[in-house]
Amino acid sequence: MKLHSDKIGISRRRFISQTGAMMVCAAVHPRLTAARAAPSGKTRLILLGTGGGPRPRKNSFPSSQVILVNNQAYVVDCGDGVATQLARADVPLPALRHVFITHHHSDHNADYGALLLLAWASGLETRVDTWGPPPLARMTRLFFEMNGYDIRTRIVDEGRTPLAPLVHVHELTRGATVMQDENVTVKCALVDHPPVKPAFAYRFDARDRSIVISGDTCRSDALIQLAQGADVLVHEALYVPAVDRLAARVPNAATLKNSILSHHTSVEDVGRVAEAAGVKTLVLSHFVPPDDPNITDQMWIDGARSAYKGHIIVGKDLLEI
Ligand SMILES: [Zn+2]
Ligand SMILES: [Zn+2]
Repeated sequence: MKLHSDKIGISRRRFISQTGAMMVCAAVHPRLTAARAAPSGKTRLILLGTGGGPRPRKNSFPSSQVILVNNQAYVVDCGDGVATQLARADVPLPALRHVFITHHHSDHNADYGALLLLAWASGLETRVDTWGPPPLARMTRLFFEMNGYDIRTRIVDEGRTPLAPLVHVHELTRGATVMQDENVTVKCALVDHPPVKPAFAYRFDARDRSIVISGDTCRSDALIQLAQGADVLVHEALYVPAVDRLAARVPNAATLKNSILSHHTSVEDVGRVAEAAGVKTLVLSHFVPPDDPNITDQMWIDGARSAYKGHIIVGKDLLEI
């Protein structure tokens, strides 16, 4: 099955950068179905999943968020349940326009293919651009191949337009301007999430506000630079005293603890990052450990507050910011 890629046909689109990766401005495609209109017309950010780690839980979904500009959906990360969470947030799936993956841990990409397939099965008829580290193109192609039976059946039975030609994949390998359209300019920076390379943070500059999503990272100077002066920084957060309890669940506790501490950011350091970047609002998300009843919202806030003077929000699934 043919997968459209911007390796071909790029002359039809405005070129932003061609260094190091396929980073091509997407053409403008009107959406037939719009998301629920925001009364103020402002750019909306909805947290879809705020728990860290891929394990399905009762109280929080894994990582995903959506930015809505002019009723078009820009999804960042596709943890388990992203399509369901969009539906619960009243965002029509056919409004999907761009998908950005920060890195290839399953709490960020498990439902990447499912989002594309389910948006299409829900009436998506227009182009979607997807962006993220390699092997995003191969993952997309194999997912469509794996679901070929259903896709072919729906094309015949329901008269749907073929799915693969709607999806344009762009693999990113370095920090740069990712894309620009009539709604937003999107930039990415390489962050530090060993051993996963590359791992990205994304910045969205819309007409009325700027929003940065950290992805997974330990304390990152590149992220501080990317987030300079942003209105909103959504940053992953680790509560260090709880890591011992979390690690105790597995046989190799010491190894897991070291691993967690080396590739995530303590909530105190998140405060330092937000202060150094001068962001107006800090949103804590991707909580590690997730759903821990022993860690109150106030404890998360206190951790970040030790270094950060701005507005702090403790993220919740389906919270709009
Ligand atoms: Zn994660
Ligand atoms: Zn990760």
